[in-house]
Amino acid sequence: SGRTVPDLLLDAAQRYPERAALHFLGKNTSYAELVKRARRFAKALQRSGVQPGDRVAIMLPNTPQYVVAFYGTLLAGGIVANTSPLYTAAELEHQLTDSGSETLVILDSMYPRYAEIAGRVPVKRVFVTRIQDELPFPKNLLYPVKAMREGTLPSDAFKHDPKTVPMRFVLKMQQPDPTPVPLAPDDVALLQYTGGTTGVPKGAVLTHRNLVANCEQARQWMPGLQEGREITLAAIPFFHVYGMTVGMNLSVLIGATLVLVPNARDIKMVLTEISKSRATIFPGVPTLYNAINHHPETAAHDLTTIRACISGSAPLMLETARRFREITQGANLVEGYGLTEASPITHTNPITGEQKEGSIGLPLPGVDALIMSEAGEPVPTGEVGELWVSGPMVMKGYWQKPEENGKVLREYQGRPWLLTGDMATMDEDGFFRIVDRKKELIIAGGYNIYPREVEEALTSHPSVLEAAAVGVPDDYRGESVHAVVVLKPGMLASDKEIMAHCRTLLSPYKVPRSVEFREELPKTAVGKTLRRQLAQEAKDRLA
Ligand code: ATP
Repeated sequence: SGRTVPDLLLDAAQRYPERAALHFLGKNTSYAELVKRARRFAKALQRSGVQPGDRVAIMLPNTPQYVVAFYGTLLAGGIVANTSPLYTAAELEHQLTDSGSETLVILDSMYPRYAEIAGRVPVKRVFVTRIQDELPFPKNLLYPVKAMREGTLPSDAFKHDPKTVPMRFVLKMQQPDPTPVPLAPDDVALLQYTGGTTGVPKGAVLTHRNLVANCEQARQWMPGLQEGREITLAAIPFFHVYGMTVGMNLSVLIGATLVLVPNARDIKMVLTEISKSRATIFPGVPTLYNAINHHPETAAHDLTTIRACISGSAPLMLETARRFREITQGANLVEGYGLTEASPITHTNPITGEQKEGSIGLPLPGVDALIMSEAGEPVPTGEVGELWVSGPMVMKGYWQKPEENGKVLREYQGRPWLLTGDMATMDEDGFFRIVDRKKELIIAGGYNIYPREVEEALTSHPSVLEAAAVGVPDDYRGESVHAVVVLKPGMLASDKEIMAHCRTLLSPYKVPRSVEFREELPKTAVGKTLRRQLAQEAKDRLA
């Protein structure tokens, strides 16, 4: 469709003005009110000098302010640069500089990290907000605040004397009447940095068409959704593309209520909010479902209102899915797959109809997918090759990295394709399975070992909660498999026992040569295991 991302919100507000768009800390914000606040913020951005095409970095957890800043930026014609609240000062410096963001919207508790690097980044204006939205106005803020009230704030007001402005104040002071900016579907909406699992994050340039297409594709794949009736528990972070599309934008598209949880690791809050709000949709990641499965307070909460769950971003272990379905008395938990460069979803198991466990399902409507050899030709059905995808949700390219574009965007049979970097298979029924990332393949004694297969074996041991398999240098084989294991609370197992268990399931060359026990695994912000960090640590210990 020719809609832009803000159209999704404006359409929902027209159909369901009084319905709660947001629910946060016991308070509702209606769709009509959300639009008003987004418009006020757009006006504030325009008044402070933000031009169409300018990047606005948003560094906020899931809060009403995030949603306001996101849609407000787009209404002003700006480009959202999603910024992880977990970034260190150095990571923040890289992203603000790389994206050329002159505007930053940030939570007060994160401000010190920005302050450390403020002099080294292009930021000219900062909007600060608090979870409670009750920022007092310190004296030194009075100049921009007064000027903003009078509409005399010069566009370079922040340039020589960087000042911060409380977001609450601008939302109060501004009229909800930004200068309309004509937006076209092919305009850039978002600069979305990749998860940083395998290296330094790269900025994917995503257009309004990309983002709207992916929401609509997800919508078509969930035929049972009821417009204007659903309640989405949004614990997965919006600053990551998965939470943004499947959590936020999909909910807005169908006029659902977003129940906001700012910290997905706060399982107690997740449980309480699900049962209190009677949430019906609960997108998540395997780590989150697993944490709920094993939390001591889960049994005390009613999770049976949940109907639709989409697990994405990392492999869903079979055991995790089974247990979660049990706890919720049959919530439909399906595995999907995607990547930042594709806005992000490309595949999912059908929510109604046949699902295949351990598979990422079928390409979404409008997505084409191929399994390709190293030489760039399709491989026979059932064989492993790299997954290529094509469709309206594929990015324009990486931000200012033309040399990277050539590696992942390619023409084949007259069409543009995205090379996902993931090794996969397709079966006779057209279902896809992710074997593993191409980059994380372990090569031991000339054999290719995909860590995921080893991890499935490890987690099938009754005492094992989570596991990672990585390659470590081995004089004889080049690399050998090293396992890092987290045991379930109160459970015991020895390394010998775990290796013996693996021997019953895996060919000898795939069995870990060493097993290490940890309290938890290092993860990215969305809960992907940082195998490269584990491999580095194991390597350092060996050296
Ligand atoms: P970077 O590209 O910076 O290393 P990243 O790969 O984590 O980070 P994302 O775009 O956040 O960047 O993640 C996409 C990747 O996540 C996919 O390429 C794939 O490897 C993995 N992934 C997503 N969903 C699944 C799934 N269901 N099963 C297995 N892997 C998945």
